[in-house]
Amino acid sequence: MAQKLRLAIQKSGRLHDDSMKLLKECGIDISNGVNKLKADANNFPMEVFFLRDDDIPQYVEDGVADIGFVGENVVYEKNKKVTVAEKLGFGKCRLSIAVRKEETYTGAAYLAGKKIATSYPVLVQQFLNQHNISAEIHEISGSVEIAPGIGLADAICDLVSSGSTLFMNGLKETESILQSQAVIIKNSDLTTEQESILSKLLFRIQSVKKAKNNKYILLNAPNHNLQKIVSLLPGMKSPTVLPLAEEGWSSVHSVLNENEFWDIIEQLKDAGAQGILVIPIEKMIL
Ligand code: ATP
Ligand code: ZN
Repeated sequence: MAQKLRLAIQKSGRLHDDSMKLLKECGIDISNGVNKLKADANNFPMEVFFLRDDDIPQYVEDGVADIGFVGENVVYEKNKKVTVAEKLGFGKCRLSIAVRKEETYTGAAYLAGKKIATSYPVLVQQFLNQHNISAEIHEISGSVEIAPGIGLADAICDLVSSGSTLFMNGLKETESILQSQAVIIKNSDLTTEQESILSKLLFRIQSVKKAKNNKYILLNAPNHNLQKIVSLLPGMKSPTVLPLAEEGWSSVHSVLNENEFWDIIEQLKDAGAQGILVIPIEKMIL
């Protein structure tokens, strides 16, 4: 029987929906319920396991699952023998030190001799070691942000995205010790067949990621300024130029990266471009 690649994703929580969405965007159809422990893909040699995120590195190291989607924060905290194969571009957050907002944080040295509450003892200890500081780490599994308020700790180290949870608890973020996003981890002993399924999956993921960072742009250009307008546009090879029914005008099609997008749009308008349409791209194969 042909082999399948077993993928572990979070059963429920912050990474679940984006993980399912990514699989869908990769054209992988997982129909049977998320309420089960596992589900089969209908059109790709893959089986999906739904687990707690903390358990995913261990399952992948043990080979119970072949690959997993999980936050870098969990990968580096658990420190299992797994390889990061690709960043996934979602689940972005940072692991940060925070203290009561009235405190003056003078840098890592502030933490010397203090009590730090965290669910990430390994990463916090690494940070302290890097700065040659000794402090007491108090490991707690949830609601870390209330620790200073109830006198359990002087500082915390926790995941932050907007910072509103810290603010609501009278804390301020002082230092990030890790930038994190969801990644694919893989077991170190995949068979040749599993490696080849993984390559197919990675190829699809890369196409989806590239497409998200790019937009398809269509515009009308006056022919007297066509050269100028075309030179502003990168395109995959070069922009497509088609004559419009109206004399003296052309339609120009191209692909623009999100980072340079607004900048180029401004310049296109200044060069006389009109009727600019910007369209999302679903997949991008280079
Ligand atoms: P589980 O029940 O699977 O153990 P959990 O409660 O540990 O879930 P979630 O809160 O769902 O975990 O977070 C899962 C992951 O989402 C985190 O490990 C992190 O990688 C990512 N994440 C992104 N933004 C945030 C944030 N603001 N706070 C916490 N985690 C975040
Ligand atoms: Zn968890």
